[in-house]
Amino acid sequence: MSWKTTTHPLFDKEHLAAYCSEHNIPAFRIKQIMHGVFGDHHIDINEITTLSKELRAQLNASFHINTLKVENIVEWPESTKFLFSMPDETMIETVLMYHWHEKKSFKTRQRKILRSWTKPDISSETHTLNRITICISSQVWCAVWCIFCVTWKLWFKKNLDWSEMLMQIQYANNYIKQKFGKKDDGTRRKVRNVVFMGMGEPMFNYEHMKKSITYMLDQQALWLSKRHITISTSWVANAIRQLVDDKIDVRLALSLHAPNQPLRLELIPMIAKKRPLDELMETIDYYVKKTWNRLFYEYIMIQNKTDTPEIAHELGQLLQKRNAHVNLIPYNENPAMPELTTSEFDVIMAFKKIVEQYWVTVTVRDTLWRDVKWACGQLGYEKVEEGL
Ligand code: SAH
Ligand code: SF4
Repeated sequence: MSWKTTTHPLFDKEHLAAYCSEHNIPAFRIKQIMHGVFGDHHIDINEITTLSKELRAQLNASFHINTLKVENIVEWPESTKFLFSMPDETMIETVLMYHWHEKKSFKTRQRKILRSWTKPDISSETHTLNRITICISSQVWCAVWCIFCVTWKLWFKKNLDWSEMLMQIQYANNYIKQKFGKKDDGTRRKVRNVVFMGMGEPMFNYEHMKKSITYMLDQQALWLSKRHITISTSWVANAIRQLVDDKIDVRLALSLHAPNQPLRLELIPMIAKKRPLDELMETIDYYVKKTWNRLFYEYIMIQNKTDTPEIAHELGQLLQKRNAHVNLIPYNENPAMPELTTSEFDVIMAFKKIVEQYWVTVTVRDTLWRDVKWACGQLGYEKVEEGL
């Protein structure tokens, strides 16, 4: 049954401060509450036992920490994928990715990855958990039509608000607490990196994305490093210029996917029509000049479409002297687009070598995550198709 949220996010600092002053709740309670949410990773007000029972009951009447309900969790050794429903019954996905270090020799694993797509076995005897990345959604489905992505297939539904973006991290931190416990030194394990690479185009939801980032950076909230937050976008111009004006100095990844306008029109028609490649590169140059930040380019590897040697040279030429780092993403095959196939391993490696000739650094997205149905929306798409 659908239900509406009538309460307010407890971790909205300004709102909470106003509420406390209005209800004669001492200011030190705000600190306790923020710590309960962001330090102890509670997602239920009743769990914040540093507060009295009466105060918890009072807060429960007006606030919530979490409104996301888990519909499905899929676990792999390297990741966990959550499918959440929201009060209005729309759904989003969030993915946790665990970066393991091999205890004996990390190099062995790297060599294994480079030789094939096969996954090494991960166990606590052979590996230690190094860091955790979360991939969050910013919208329910997406209004940008990238032909390889399932997310637009179900049509755009709505923007998430800033608190719903944070709730995904809150929920995940609570889950991590239960799944992994504390580190050997007694500190809590938690999400270290956030990437806006789940469902949706974050730049089309700019103000809420921006507010969620301020909470990610805030010492009283998630307190993440700005180098550990990445906005991924297919859409540029105004919003990228806005990032510069607003001094949002987190990492920026541009989903480029094609080094020439005809191929862009084929792969990402809506954006390509609106923003031709020349305009895109002009904006990028403006961004790099103003911020001195290195830009990360995401580039999808689809067989016989984006992976030929000619296109590799074009990509190298386009990005040389642009302080660029390219991440090659093997196309994740999915039922919504049966006509597209992922590039062969050797083809990707050959493509990488060509682009590197132009002094552009290139990585291949960690193939360990291929089973995760990494590509945004895939799990949700299947559920919706099943008629959940
Ligand atoms: N809308 C934003 C962020 C979400 S998509 C953007 O497009 O950047 C995050 C990344 O997932 C994008 O780089 C996108 O190209 C990639 N992606 C989407 N569908 C994919 C698929 N089927 N296989 C591999 N990567 C995919
Ligand atoms: Fe939207 Fe990004 Fe998917 Fe394109 S790749 S449809 S912009 S979520």
